[in-house]
Amino acid sequence: YDLRNEDLKDMQELGQGNGGSVKKVEHAPTGTIMAKKVVLIDAKPSVRKQILRELHIMHECNSRYIVSFYGAYLADPNICICMEYMNKGSLDGIYKKIGAIDIDIVGQVALAVLEGLTYLYDFHRIIHRDIKPSNMLCNSNGEIKICDFGVSGELINSIADTFVGTSTYMSPERIQGAQYTVKSDVWSLGISLIELALGRFPFAESESDDSDLSDLEGTLSPARPGSMGSIAALSLAPRQKPPKSATAKKDKRKSKGVSLQGGGMTMSILELLQHIVNESAPKLTPEGRFPKAAENFVDSCLLKDPDARKTPKELLNYPWIEQAKTSTIDVEAWANTF
Ligand code: ATP
Ligand code: MG
Repeated sequence: YDLRNEDLKDMQELGQGNGGSVKKVEHAPTGTIMAKKVVLIDAKPSVRKQILRELHIMHECNSRYIVSFYGAYLADPNICICMEYMNKGSLDGIYKKIGAIDIDIVGQVALAVLEGLTYLYDFHRIIHRDIKPSNMLCNSNGEIKICDFGVSGELINSIADTFVGTSTYMSPERIQGAQYTVKSDVWSLGISLIELALGRFPFAESESDDSDLSDLEGTLSPARPGSMGSIAALSLAPRQKPPKSATAKKDKRKSKGVSLQGGGMTMSILELLQHIVNESAPKLTPEGRFPKAAENFVDSCLLKDPDARKTPKELLNYPWIEQAKTSTIDVEAWANTF
């Protein structure tokens, strides 16, 4: 596709995220329906061109577990990324609509995500870096695919500079400033699977006013390798430079009751991150509600020591995942019930 902004006709808003907004569009010359992600980039033209070059490798990412890429272009001051439209949306939207997801479907999600992560790493040496239910998409053919992986180092930097977000899917070692590895993605997968199976974010249990702790953008700087050695270095102060994209995000932030300066809320985020680092990992609970194999798998994803945690490829051989491979469950039928 030779993508031009004027050829893409807006159809429907699909959602707003940390980095921008996503719309369902039609590519008029070909009639192709796409999802167009618009990311505001506060960066020099040279950096923006570099980002576009880096995004190019997404053309080579071809897997049934990865959302396909149609192309990207600059539309000042934005970068537009066009990808396969997944008509059932993201798994967070799905569970918020239908409630906790059946554990056998969650098994299929685990299998798809592990296959996708293994493909990205083995073929392209790409680490996803943002595994969470909103980046797991489903369509009415029953396909489950991952999107929004970190292909472009420059894009990651630019978003981090304009918009400092932290996610509570982050592994303990990442919170403490260690480098990303494929094992950090495995931790995030474990948290996501519990969220899908329980129908709520696993850390939201004991706190009272934390309805959406899974998504705390604009509140804390993520620990950057080398810049912060421990959680104590996380700053509660708002960033000096107000993010340029603040207006775009304002509504979302407001709707969630999270503010940059907000005293109590911000503190509970810090407490949550400390909790992730210091306390034992969440589990698929209550005991006995889910198959043992599922419990064991999630426990393996959530080993706090990254050296003990397995890689996505190793986890593909776990009993629960082997069961998922031979399962006869009909994801397509399930996806057509909502
Ligand atoms: P964050 O920015 O914090 O990572 P997010 O993943 O929700 O959060 P976006 O990636 O901007 O933010 O996506 C916004 C929403 O758009 C998603 O939650 C999802 O529901 C929807 N969406 C994204 N990509 C697609 C796609 N290819 N097909 C269908 N819906 C999509
Ligand atoms: Mg996303």
